[in-house]
Amino acid sequence: MSQYHAPLAEMQFVMNELAGLEQVSQLPDFAEATPDVATAILEEASKFATNVLDPLNFSGDQEGAQWHDGGTVTTPAGFKDAYLQFCENGWMGLNKSTEFGGQGLPQLVAATVEEMWHASNLAFDLCPMLTQGAIEAIELRGSDALKHKFLPNMVAGVWAGTMNLTEPQAGSDLAAVRTRAVPQGDGTYKIHGTKIFITCGEHDYTENVIHLVLARTPDAPPGVKGISLFVVPKFIVGDDGSLGARNDVFCVSLEHKLGIHASPTAVMSFGDKGGAVGYLVGEENRGLEYMFIMMNLARFSVGMEGVGVSERAYQRAVAYAKDRVQGKAVGLAPEEATGTIIDHPDIRRMLMTMRANTEAIRAVAYVTAAAMDNASRHPDAETRKRSQAFVELMIPIVKGCSTEVAQETTSLGVQVHGGMGFIEETGAAQHFRDARITTIYEGTTGIQANDLIGRKTARDGGTVARKVVAEIDAVAADLVAHGDPSLKAIGTQLAQSTAALKEAIDWMVPAYGAQVRAAQAGAVPYLRLWGLVAGGWQMGRAALIAAKHLADGSGAAPFMKAKIATARYYADCLLPQAGGLARTVVEGGESALALAASDF
Ligand SMILES: Cc1cc2nc3c(=O)[nH]c(=O)nc-3n(C[C@H](O)[C@H](O)[C@H](O)COP(=O)(O)OP(=O)(O)OC[C@H]3O[C@@H](n4cnc5c(N)ncnc54)[C@H](O)[C@@H]3O)c2cc1C
Repeated sequence: MSQYHAPLAEMQFVMNELAGLEQVSQLPDFAEATPDVATAILEEASKFATNVLDPLNFSGDQEGAQWHDGGTVTTPAGFKDAYLQFCENGWMGLNKSTEFGGQGLPQLVAATVEEMWHASNLAFDLCPMLTQGAIEAIELRGSDALKHKFLPNMVAGVWAGTMNLTEPQAGSDLAAVRTRAVPQGDGTYKIHGTKIFITCGEHDYTENVIHLVLARTPDAPPGVKGISLFVVPKFIVGDDGSLGARNDVFCVSLEHKLGIHASPTAVMSFGDKGGAVGYLVGEENRGLEYMFIMMNLARFSVGMEGVGVSERAYQRAVAYAKDRVQGKAVGLAPEEATGTIIDHPDIRRMLMTMRANTEAIRAVAYVTAAAMDNASRHPDAETRKRSQAFVELMIPIVKGCSTEVAQETTSLGVQVHGGMGFIEETGAAQHFRDARITTIYEGTTGIQANDLIGRKTARDGGTVARKVVAEIDAVAADLVAHGDPSLKAIGTQLAQSTAALKEAIDWMVPAYGAQVRAAQAGAVPYLRLWGLVAGGWQMGRAALIAAKHLADGSGAAPFMKAKIATARYYADCLLPQAGGLARTVVEGGESALALAASDF
């Protein structure tokens, strides 16, 4: 069976040369994050991913998390031990504030490491990911008292965190949240309600679980402006940090689901025995606003899940394709033939599609991570603002497109295996099942796309979107002007795709106001178009850098040649879809909406 190996050369190339770690390490507080240090971190993380997490992926899926009478939950064999090692090695607090015990490393470095966790064991990393989200919420808006009480143990991983947003009637639309929070007059609240689909709502990893809960106070206005955010610990924590009474929050069941079986997805009941004690984060009625601030990071992380699971599915497919003997490949000289299915042109096409798409979404994600670092730390206010605007635009693209790409890569991974792909023992089917959730949680693709057309494109009249397009055009022009015919061809295709994207933006900005239903009908194709072209942008940049290395003899020549070949495949075989997507955006709305609801 294939073993996961982090693609270290590729990760370092993207991190250093495309995302610019050297520049990020010049930012205040990041001086220690030099490329050498980052390389050492990546190497350590890759060992943990290969030796500890990857071997548990299949067994964890088979065994699943188990619910027991009394509301306790056990995770599959080996998971708790892996979690304890993960925390002991300091991975939980990699990019968290040093004030609370974190290592304060850039988001860019954290993203590369995160990719490895997702690739080797998607279900395992959900608990750390949600804990990091909860840490972020408390750090951003919690009082000093809350921070000091909860953060050190959460950053160390001694206590885990959760995000309790969803209720049966409140999924994509959190304005419908009904969970109640009643003030007790002593600064605390009593929480009553039911939350569903809560990742790691209960488990056996940690002695305490710190739930972040959205709820309404009695006088709250209706809708989004009446939701507050609370910290609700499983065990009450004393002022000295000791654990006290069991709080009135219990896991009443676990969901049975398509994938990520090792991750418990819990139904949580708050307040059945009189009310769960909760502590307000920030101010009343501003909970959703706080959630939106931290959503950038959470959505980015789910985008990285798409990258990780795509890489893993690709590696497994390559291993199988080099092993399976079936049929005789056409048109190959005997000395060129391996005798396995990797010789078949259609297998090559599938592997190249998986590889090119994965490299493209990785590059887009890492470049976005570097922009997150610039947005938070750059000394120049204008650069911070520009970087933040770029991040805002890119987050729905990273989340929406990486996860949609993961559907295709994991499906192709099954296809490369033939019938064995449908059989669980190869592991290809698990990636396909596990990947399926990534386009749903943290906001479905439809919700990402609505965000992209509304807040991120139409609201500023397309200004930021067009600035990014101008940057892509500049790369296309550099490629077209290049002496190498392959780079020229990449540039020509990139320029055509960028023209298609421009057309879609020009249509979308007025349409969002004048024909909003048609705009929303084209929102997902618009998102896919952005992802495709942004991927082409980064692949084009990668090809230019690789060509420079080849010209001056620096870097590993086989890697650089493969980079250019993969970028060329992306340009020749994937980028042409941009024209079709633009047509769907501009002309597809009417026919998508032609039938009345009663016609279905
Ligand atoms: C395994 C798993 C883990 C999860 N973990 C957590 C967790 O830890 N914490 C938590 O709070 N929640 C969690 N969730 C919930 C998850 O975030 C929601 O399922 C998700 O946001 C979608 O909400 P919904 O299921 O109610 O679907 P709905 O909102 O009912 O959506 C159904 C369909 O309608 C579409 N739709 C809805 N509204 C619109 C709109 N305005 N425009 C266009 N299309 C729209 C959606 O795109 C979707 O296709 C988890 C879910 C699962 C399955």
